[in-house]
Amino acid sequence: MEIFKEIKPLKAFLSQKWGLVSIGLVPTMGALHAGHLSLIGASKLENQLTICSIFVNPAQFNNPKDLEKYPRTLDLDLSLLESAGCDVVFAPAVPEIYDHDSTISFDFGHLDKILEGKFRPGHFSGVALVVSKFFNIIRPSTAYFGQKDFQQFKIIEKLVNELKFDLHLKRMSIFREADGLAMSSRNMRLNGLERKKATVFYESLAAAKKLLTQGESISKVKEFVAQKCESVEGIKLDYFELASAENLKITETVTTETVLLIAGFIGEVRLIDNLLMNENE
Ligand code: AMP
Repeated sequence: MEIFKEIKPLKAFLSQKWGLVSIGLVPTMGALHAGHLSLIGASKLENQLTICSIFVNPAQFNNPKDLEKYPRTLDLDLSLLESAGCDVVFAPAVPEIYDHDSTISFDFGHLDKILEGKFRPGHFSGVALVVSKFFNIIRPSTAYFGQKDFQQFKIIEKLVNELKFDLHLKRMSIFREADGLAMSSRNMRLNGLERKKATVFYESLAAAKKLLTQGESISKVKEFVAQKCESVEGIKLDYFELASAENLKITETVTTETVLLIAGFIGEVRLIDNLLMNENE
């Protein structure tokens, strides 16, 4: 496995591959888990070369404490990637990616004003910025992202379409722990009790989906989820919403194309999750 920390040698390496082999890119912020590795596996199946980037992107953190506390486990990540058969790792330091006076930002219209965008102003602009940089540096044939960050995927779809990036996007399904909790690097920050309580988000989504399938009204289901989360000490619900999986417009009608999205705090750790109405659980 080749490991690069700088752009120049990475590009020198890739210049011998561009146009000759298909390149799959899996962008991550490290602290890798089985969900990340499923993206590596998908890329390996579909490409001749798989690159994983590991970069905790300061531009997408609206909360400095969250950035400071974000888990960083590079040595472990590298051994997991090696075992998963990843070919190349790009793990740059911040100054390699950002000029100190960078002021570029993105506006995605309604897409970055709702849900995560409302609770984390500037987050998606930071995501789009770093993803654009990595697309330009690496020039992948296909980039792999998780459904776990559903809104992020929609943002990146728009970014690729509008900026005419010449690549395919793949959205991979959510990897969960046995009790339903969506795998997340942030789960490492939960203590034993918080970890147990954290299942409330997935349980809320699954119960909400069942109620909606049985014909319960959206307002009743929203009330139910709010109460379910409130009943667990230490949980603070930021939102539970229904949106169109196509354009992410908040919806008041349920179809097979509806996605249920939830976000909230458990103690100091903020988690997100989602479930598609037409998804097999
Ligand atoms: P992150 O390191 O959290 O920025 O995630 C890197 C990529 O892995 C993103 O495309 C995420 O959506 C994806 N990802 C994170 N958690 C999961 C999961 N539980 N299952 C599948 N993909 C995931």
